Amino acid sequence: GGEVRFEDVSFGYDPRRPILKGVSFTVPAGRTVAIVGPSGAGKSTLSRLLFRFYDASGGRILIDGQEISAVTQASLRAAIGIVPQDTVLFNDTIRYNVAYGRTDATQGEVEHAAALAHIDGFIAGLPDGWNTTVGERGLKLSGGEKQRVAIARTILKNPPILMFDEATSALDTHTEREIQRNLREVSRGRTTLIIAHRLSTVVDADEIIVLEEGRVRERGRHADLLAMG
Ligand code: ADP
Ligand code: ADP
Repeated sequence: GGEVRFEDVSFGYDPRRPILKGVSFTVPAGRTVAIVGPSGAGKSTLSRLLFRFYDASGGRILIDGQEISAVTQASLRAAIGIVPQDTVLFNDTIRYNVAYGRTDATQGEVEHAAALAHIDGFIAGLPDGWNTTVGERGLKLSGGEKQRVAIARTILKNPPILMFDEATSALDTHTEREIQRNLREVSRGRTTLIIAHRLSTVVDADEIIVLEEGRVRERGRHADLLAMG
């Protein structure tokens, strides 16, 4: 399962100022769809609607054919895993950060998720800036490494649907490649919606939706969109 469907979805934070103006697309179960478009197009707004931080004012959003407004908040949270743009870590060990929300997870499960996300080398460590009163120095984690902590958490949670919010900030080539690899690994076998800021990240997406001023402007595969210019 895990099909995500937006049907003619409209929304505005202020009802007099529409932000999304009839957006429709489907992410078939297990597939990857990327939303790209200029800043202010409504990409983040769209992701907030899927998570029900806000409700659409028109149209429908469905997961496996069921309207999300009819799903409990708890099952929605269990169904969708978010790898956020900037991962903020709790002031506790990386292991704790991975297991957050899965207090029932065994040590073996946590270690397995950490290994898949390639953070097993430092799960006992503390994030940078943590409690200097105990005299422990934190790890200096790069943006890509912090994201891998969020990915390990997502692997442990094992949601059928993944929402991956690409960083807006300029990234060096090494970090960008690392994030692309992270994305490929965690999206395998899951329905994945990527909020993308660079077309280069979404070369592998099954479909790219170009959002402009709250409307779907183009859709297609990476090569099709490049051909269209
Ligand atoms: P994108 O992610 O494509 O950059 P957003 O969804 O963040 O676009 O923003 C779309 C529009 O909605 C912008 O005009 C933005 O100013 C506005 N907006 C975003 N968040 C809010 C909010 N919480 N309250 C009011 N307006 C918002
Ligand atoms: P859980 O239900 O297991 O607590 P969530 O799916 O709510 O997990 O959140 C997973 C991670 O994504 C957490 O680190 C949370 O803080 C973060 N997160 C949740 N919603 C958003 C969002 N809209 N934008 C960015 N990060 C988010």
